[in-house]
Amino acid sequence: MNHSSSLIVGIDLGTTNSLIGIYDAGFPTLLADDEGSRLTPSIVSYRDKGQVLVGRLAERQRLLHPEQTIASVKRLMGNQKKLHLGKHHVTPEEVSSEILKHLKKIAERALNNGVSRAVITVPAYFNDAQRAATRRAGELAGFTVERILSEPTAAALAYGLDKLHDQAKIAVYDLGGGTFDLSILQLDHGIFQVLSTHGDTQLGGDDLDEAIANFLLTKSQTSQKEIDSQRLKTAARQAKEQLSFVEETVVRLPFFQGTRHLEIPLTRAELEKTCRPLIERTRTFCLRALADAKLQPSDLDEIILVGGSTRMPLVQAIVENIFEKKTNLSQHPDEAVALGAVLQAALLEGKLSQITLLDITPLSLGIETFGGLMNVIIPRNTTIPTKAGEMFTNAVAGQQAMKITILQGERELAKDNWKLGEVEIPFTPAPKGQARVGVQFEIDADGILKVLVRDTISGEEKILEIRQAIEISDEAVEAMLADSLEHAFEDRDARILTEARLKAEEMLPAVESALTQLAGELDEKMKKEIRAASAQLEAAMKEDDLSILQQQLQKLDDATQILATMLVDKVLKKDSDR
Ligand code: AMP
Repeated sequence: MNHSSSLIVGIDLGTTNSLIGIYDAGFPTLLADDEGSRLTPSIVSYRDKGQVLVGRLAERQRLLHPEQTIASVKRLMGNQKKLHLGKHHVTPEEVSSEILKHLKKIAERALNNGVSRAVITVPAYFNDAQRAATRRAGELAGFTVERILSEPTAAALAYGLDKLHDQAKIAVYDLGGGTFDLSILQLDHGIFQVLSTHGDTQLGGDDLDEAIANFLLTKSQTSQKEIDSQRLKTAARQAKEQLSFVEETVVRLPFFQGTRHLEIPLTRAELEKTCRPLIERTRTFCLRALADAKLQPSDLDEIILVGGSTRMPLVQAIVENIFEKKTNLSQHPDEAVALGAVLQAALLEGKLSQITLLDITPLSLGIETFGGLMNVIIPRNTTIPTKAGEMFTNAVAGQQAMKITILQGERELAKDNWKLGEVEIPFTPAPKGQARVGVQFEIDADGILKVLVRDTISGEEKILEIRQAIEISDEAVEAMLADSLEHAFEDRDARILTEARLKAEEMLPAVESALTQLAGELDEKMKKEIRAASAQLEAAMKEDDLSILQQQLQKLDDATQILATMLVDKVLKKDSDR
């Protein structure tokens, strides 16, 4: 058999069921066994002659040889005590490795190729020992374990990053066969952070089955002794699953007590009454997780349901009541974790870039403006495709061309950001501030940035295409963000200083021109005062002291207040004289 060395499979090693999948032809695909089933019951049966059965075959053995068979071994992960199963003495991780070997075979048969690398999911609450045991189980099964991934993170990945904005907060409510957990995650620059997690490792669909079985015993007035409790529980589970789709069913136990058949009708209302107290127990955990994350239900953007038991309408209703919000059931709840594991595998394989998932600009994009400042046009974390533009004007009178430098980064000064490109546009010479150059940034769905620069007077335009605006390594983005944080204060001061200088540069010639225009109307004392303030401002511009510069700007502003009023009066008078 060939080994497809680059292929990584995604595995949901579940308490009740396990799944395996691959990313193929642009889609995550879960692989079916020979019987066409994608769910493998996480059950292992050790036969006397050394044969090990996994999945449905083991499930059948469970009725015949319960002493040789183990289900829900995930609950015991991390525990080194040997389990005695018939003649076999095995650790929980060895049992798990049998499930993983079985999944590996399913994949190899489906692909007709060997697989050796895997991503395996574990509950968010698994500690280091439990994660290490899961990793060892993978290795025992012949896998190189590329990543141990938290189940809620996998579910969130499957839900789709593209549907979430940065800093989105989501709750993943996972009620499976044997366990319940609720995790609150926050999407932070493409990475899910687990804010809090709470749960009950002894609460799940199995407990519902037991409660239903007891209800059925009472209803049929049969005693526990008369009945094979495992068969009754299996029947209860089937009835429960049917009642997610129909209003009533009949639980049939053929050949119960030799020749007698047992038939018990069961309605959804009866089922819900029996199950409600158990499902209500999840409420406290949800509230605790919210409190730990310091959030209100209204702060959550999405509630994602995971685990087979969330197919029950009652579970959905209770969750919606807890979070005061509609839940999200867009994925098959029992496949979401596996699909997420496959997506994580595809990310590691490089078949899927974080960017395709993310669809946002990792860093701000803009251009350099007067004084060497960064002028942001598309802020970071904007969802793509996107378009934005701004109008710029000439800094110097009679300028013949304008150079547009395209920048990327979070720093205030142009020189500290990355230069992506440069384009020069010739334009009709005009007095300072009169020319109009439009700059438009457009990023398409493939992440390609097009910069269009147009002189609005002549209509002349230029287009620059930049391909690497979106695909930046995570490290580079992190380094830029770290830099911008580290220099946040000095950057801000530098921007304010530059802006103050620009203001002074504009103000000085304007004041000079007003003095000339109003020469005959101003008394000497006032002229002297204004000239002195101008000179002081000019001197302050040569220094790097922001507070002195601001002081002088203010002084000149105060001293020239009267000039502005006089100029306006003069213009009005001229108009009325005409
Ligand atoms: P999981 O551990 O996620 O595979 O979930 C297994 C649990 O989901 C078992 O307790 C199943 O009985 C339960 N389950 C699966 N399908 C349904 C359904 N349609 N309605 C209610 N429970 C279901």
